[in-house]
Amino acid sequence: MKALIIASALSLVGSCATTSYTQKIENLKESIVFERPEAVIKYGNTITPDELSAHVYKLSSNDFEGRQTGRNGFHKASKYLKDFYISNDVPSPLGSDNYYQSIPKSYFTKDSLASQNVVAFIEGSEHPEEIIILSGHLDHLGTSEETTYYGADDNASGTAALMEIAQAFIAAKKEGYGPKRSILFLHLTAEESGLLGSSYYVKHPIFSLNNTVANLNIDMIGRVDPKHDRLQDDNYIYIIGADRISTELHYISEAANTWFTNLNLDYSYNKEDEPNRYYYRSDHYNFAYKGLPVIFYFNGEHEDYHKPTDTPDKINYPLLQKRSQLIFATAWYLANSKHRLNPNKL
Ligand SMILES: [Zn+2]
Repeated sequence: MKALIIASALSLVGSCATTSYTQKIENLKESIVFERPEAVIKYGNTITPDELSAHVYKLSSNDFEGRQTGRNGFHKASKYLKDFYISNDVPSPLGSDNYYQSIPKSYFTKDSLASQNVVAFIEGSEHPEEIIILSGHLDHLGTSEETTYYGADDNASGTAALMEIAQAFIAAKKEGYGPKRSILFLHLTAEESGLLGSSYYVKHPIFSLNNTVANLNIDMIGRVDPKHDRLQDDNYIYIIGADRISTELHYISEAANTWFTNLNLDYSYNKEDEPNRYYYRSDHYNFAYKGLPVIFYFNGEHEDYHKPTDTPDKINYPLLQKRSQLIFATAWYLANSKHRLNPNKL
């Protein structure tokens, strides 16, 4: 307690600009309060390792042939998602039973076929026009000769997370805890061939980008990378981009973690000069490029990255659950907070 008083006394002697910035951040942090934490815990706990595992095993099975954009395996995976949303009473934003945002063949490179983003939607009760987008790419590398690229981590893990998060929100809605803002679940195609599903979406948004509050994008969240393996720290996730556009989003993400999940949030890939440039390498970037606040959730690369050995038996399902619960809690806050996310940097 004493140290804290000395520190703030010293900071008063410092420049006024610094003090007011520090104060602004303190005020911001104090303003982030989860009003019904018991509901976040209750519905977050409907996201289970068993259900995540069932989805990851299915999505990365031989049935779906590596989910290559435009190919039969991708269509089967799309149908699997559509059936899931129908059976869970999560509607499509496109109406009736059309869960596909079709993208014509001409949008892709020469040898690719027409494809689709798969979309599902939970309408907000108070500000239905304000949209939170939760995304993850569904496509992977397909097959080559006799080899299948299963893509269990990349990105069946993120796809399963989105499905379970949608199920948690719809369960809450059925019991009177539906989100105040709307949530779009966006399963993107053609990420592996250049973030094309998301670039198509931002050019042809289903809901105006002006009314889009933020994008939380998931790409590979089921494994542990060599760095954390060495540190014997499985309890982590890389957070990329959270503070680049909206300062508030960064602190909401931190608060969600402090309140509910206590993961070690690793920001090493968020540095501007980071040589891997992950910030530019998954679908959230197309939203960030349009000025929308984003978070990219990522476990880091590992020895099976983009190899046929990226299989479902190597996923850590309790860890996938915890990471999914962090994203769920963050989305819950964005969808239910009193004021819409401040999209600016402080
Ligand atoms: Zn990926």
